[in-house]
Amino acid sequence: MSLIRQNLQAITATIVAATQESQRPAGAVQLLAVSKTFGPEAVLEAVAAGQRAFGENYLQEGLDKIRAVQEAGAPALEWHFIGPIQSNKTRPIAENFAWVHTVEREKIAQRLSEQRPDGMPPLQICLQVNISGEASKSGAAPEEVAALAHKVAALPNLTLRGLMAIPEPAEAFAQQRAAFAQLRTIYEQLRADGLALDTLSMGMSADMRAAIFEGATMVRVGSAIFGARNYLKA
Ligand SMILES: *Cc1c(COP(=O)(O)O)cnc(C)c1O
Repeated sequence: MSLIRQNLQAITATIVAATQESQRPAGAVQLLAVSKTFGPEAVLEAVAAGQRAFGENYLQEGLDKIRAVQEAGAPALEWHFIGPIQSNKTRPIAENFAWVHTVEREKIAQRLSEQRPDGMPPLQICLQVNISGEASKSGAAPEEVAALAHKVAALPNLTLRGLMAIPEPAEAFAQQRAAFAQLRTIYEQLRADGLALDTLSMGMSADMRAAIFEGATMVRVGSAIFGARNYLKA
C-alpha cells in the first residue's frame, strides 16, 4: 500500500475519532489535502485512495498541477486556493478554483466575483482572519470581519461559506484550542447576525484535533499526508 494511502487512512481515522470524542455528528469534518510543493503524481496517488479535495498555495504551481492531473485522466477534483492573493492574479484563481480560503480584502473579493466565468458555479469563499493579532500575519483583523463578510456575501458570483485562520503554532492542546475558539466565536457571531455560514476552515497537521474540538468543518492537512516539504526543490 502506498505511503500516501496509509497516511490518508490514518488521518481519516484521527478525524473520525476526534469528531466522536468532541460529540459532533459523523461526517461533520471534511479533509482538504494540501498538496503544495508535491507533484501531480502525489495528487494522483491521493486520488487513487479516494481523496477529491485539494489545496494549493502558490498560483502557478497550482495551475500547472491542475492541468497535469486533468491530462492524466483524473476524475473531477475540487481545488481550493489557500495561499496569499495578489490583486493582479485574481483572474486565474477565479477561473480555475472552486474555493478560495484566503480572502481578506473587499477589493480582492470584488475582482474574484467579476472574473468568475459565466456558467461556472459561484466561487466558494472563506474570509481569512488574523486571530493571532500579529502585524506580519495575513488575514483581516477580527473587528473588520463583520463588515467585510456582509460586503462579500452580497457579491453576485461568490458564495460566502465561512472563515479560515492559521493560528500561531502552539504545542499545548489547550493553547491550540484557545486560538481556534476565537475564530469560532467570530463565526457564531456572524451566523447570529444572519449570515448563512457553514464552514470553519481551521486545523493543520499539527493541530487538527484541537481544531475539530472547537468546531472545524474543514481541516487543511499537508505534511501528515504527503510528508515533509522540501521548499528548495519546489
Ligand atoms: C501548508 C498549509 C497547510 C498544511 O500544513 P501542514 O502543516 O503541512 O498540514 C494548511 N493550510 C495552509 C494555509 C497552508 O499554507
